[in-house]
Amino acid sequence: MPVIDLLVRGANVILPKGSRKTSLAIHQGKVVGHAEIEAATVIDAEGLTLLPGAFDAHVHYNEPGRAEWEGWGTGSRASRAGGATCVAEMPLNAQPPTLDAKTFQMKRVIAEKKSCVDFTLWGGITPLNLNKLEELGRAGAIGFKAFMVDSGTDDFPGSDPATLKEGMKSAARQNLPVAIHAESPKRIAELTQQIRIQGGTSAQDYLNSRPIQTEVDAIHLVCELAGETGCRIHIVHVSCPEGIDEIQQARKRGVDVTAETCPHYLVLTEEDMIRIGAPAKCAPPLRSENARHGLLQNIDEGKIDTIGSDHSPSPPSLKTDPDFFKVWGGISGCQHLIPLLFSAGLSPTQIARLTSENPARRFGLYPRKGSLSVGSDADFLLVRTGITHEIRAQDLLTTHPITPYLGRILTARVERVAVRGCLEPSRGHFLAPSPSK
Ligand code: ZN
Repeated sequence: MPVIDLLVRGANVILPKGSRKTSLAIHQGKVVGHAEIEAATVIDAEGLTLLPGAFDAHVHYNEPGRAEWEGWGTGSRASRAGGATCVAEMPLNAQPPTLDAKTFQMKRVIAEKKSCVDFTLWGGITPLNLNKLEELGRAGAIGFKAFMVDSGTDDFPGSDPATLKEGMKSAARQNLPVAIHAESPKRIAELTQQIRIQGGTSAQDYLNSRPIQTEVDAIHLVCELAGETGCRIHIVHVSCPEGIDEIQQARKRGVDVTAETCPHYLVLTEEDMIRIGAPAKCAPPLRSENARHGLLQNIDEGKIDTIGSDHSPSPPSLKTDPDFFKVWGGISGCQHLIPLLFSAGLSPTQIARLTSENPARRFGLYPRKGSLSVGSDADFLLVRTGITHEIRAQDLLTTHPITPYLGRILTARVERVAVRGCLEPSRGHFLAPSPSK
């Protein structure tokens, strides 16, 4: 009689203090040990690397309301293929956006039917819903997302400093973090206007409208507000080492701030944005080769806390305008999250820390998520390294076969993914953050 459900044998298992060739024993969806125990199913994982499942705390699946952009079914399947076993989905680009308990519940019901990965949901902070933040917290929001600039959708307006401050006060009272898209709206508007008056429409013009300083200034401002309000903040998609420096300085002043970057800032540059065009448009934009190297160095120095995909797809019709300023800004890339990080040269230990343990800790899901310890959810992936394979449109699981990575050669491939011990896609569970952290 088998004693447990599943045994993964012989993999190089990535643990917080390094890697070890060991086994993973799983029963009823949980890790029960690392010894070889008789199991109903045994996977021989000799030669493969076993990582804790990624918790991708930054995805946009755009459902309800804009499922034709992506949707929970396709989005979560693509995320799972890329190594995510849990996601936190952003409050904007859905219609209605997630700005109160009712819209939160509406999204949760859809996700519980369609998601094949476990999930949490962000609520939004906008000037329209400051009186709804407490009910969002009670509904189980993992935190709140706010934009300092235009979000790209009219129903999720950006927050001015006064709105941010009020939102942060509420988040601090609830002990929930605020995730911030930090770019300075005023300076970007001025630069954009100058460029547009001169007829600028190209990708280079778009790059010129959002220089690094606009990001750094915004990070500085929002860190000051966090210090004043005692709010925990998380700067999403930091694109440059100057932004990371600003965050480091705020930490030294005692601000509780963490930094996220994304695979696209680690593998693509502004030259790629110009060459590839619309699929590579994002905000903040891609930066120089020096900036890319600087971020990789920041990772080695332990200055970047988390990596999220910021999977932000759109239909092809929004990616075709010859005027680059009018093209939808958002990169679709969750399907290759983990292989892209291997290909960027991160070590398996760094990948596990930045995509799994750190986000789980920061957002109150650790050690249920983000760990391979006994008692944790058996969320893991098996990765084959030392191979090469190409990203092809016909292999994409997303609704639209649009990504800036088409044709890119990867050096690692996700071969198996398990969510709570289940190796086939099955229904994801909603998770609320634990109130202790
Ligand atoms: Zn985003």
